Amino acid sequence: MTNDVISGGQPIHAPDNLQPLLESILQQALTVNDGKVADYIPALAEVKSDYCALTVATLDGNVMSVGDADKAFSIQSISKVFGLMLAMERVGDSLWERVQMEPSGQPFNSIVQLEWEQGIPRNPMINAGAILISDVLVSHYSASKSALLSMVRGLCGSEEVYVDYRVHESEREHGARNSALAYLMKSFNNIESDVEEVLDHYFWQCALTMSTEQLARGMAFLANRGKCPHSGRQITTHRDSQRINALLSTSGMYDQSGQFAFTVGLPAKSGVGGGIVAIVPDYGVICAWSPPLNSYGNSARGMYMIRELANNLGLSVY
Ligand code: GLU
Repeated sequence: MTNDVISGGQPIHAPDNLQPLLESILQQALTVNDGKVADYIPALAEVKSDYCALTVATLDGNVMSVGDADKAFSIQSISKVFGLMLAMERVGDSLWERVQMEPSGQPFNSIVQLEWEQGIPRNPMINAGAILISDVLVSHYSASKSALLSMVRGLCGSEEVYVDYRVHESEREHGARNSALAYLMKSFNNIESDVEEVLDHYFWQCALTMSTEQLARGMAFLANRGKCPHSGRQITTHRDSQRINALLSTSGMYDQSGQFAFTVGLPAKSGVGGGIVAIVPDYGVICAWSPPLNSYGNSARGMYMIRELANNLGLSVY
């Protein structure tokens, strides 16, 4: 039996029971031994490197997982997607006067480009862009952290999503480069609120802690034209969900976004905690997690698992 649905204009021939395929991809991924766990945030370096999980959540409500899919991990930059969605809903198109929508071609925490471009970040998926989004949230919500947390909990249908305060503290203590980005934007008048408050929100959202199952459910609205398939709530407009997916396609996988589009062909976001979420429009979400990162900052085993699954099922949107 296959699930024939149309994604990106192409039929997907996914078996109803994906479990054996997921199992075999996980076993192959465990033989991939490249990569190194992020240690520039000391609390992340303490995570065991052999955790490995793969989840597929389809829009009909099925969630299939293998490996450590119920173990919560630091989602780090994946949180940029939730923050962006909330800011787009709150301020509308005026957001794009303060942040661009172009790939950066620079490391995610680079400072040079921001100086050249007068404090306007290249896109919301690099650190400068996400700090700017944090400013929008801090400036427009009386309690930006609880607004974000309750939205994320609602999206995954789980009150168990939490923030790891040790990771939050660790980021704050080792956040000199992010502070530099924020103060540089402030010097160009592109940060409205108090810089320390903005940074605190940014570090806090990076410390959101979720499992692959929670993340896959939480991002499903992006595969479903902006509507959360579990609650039936329209989270964002269809247009905005398309726009977020477009940004993920060009900028979601750090400096490997081009290669990811070339070999996988799905909008995706990665974080230095080792998580990767890939959106399959009109079908569902794939989420992989394994802490060791390749030289671009993407999970080495996560890349392997998502590429294998996408190629096996013909999921590319192109
Ligand atoms: N909190 C991390 C930082 O600001 C996020 C990096 C990432 O996951 O890309 O450096």
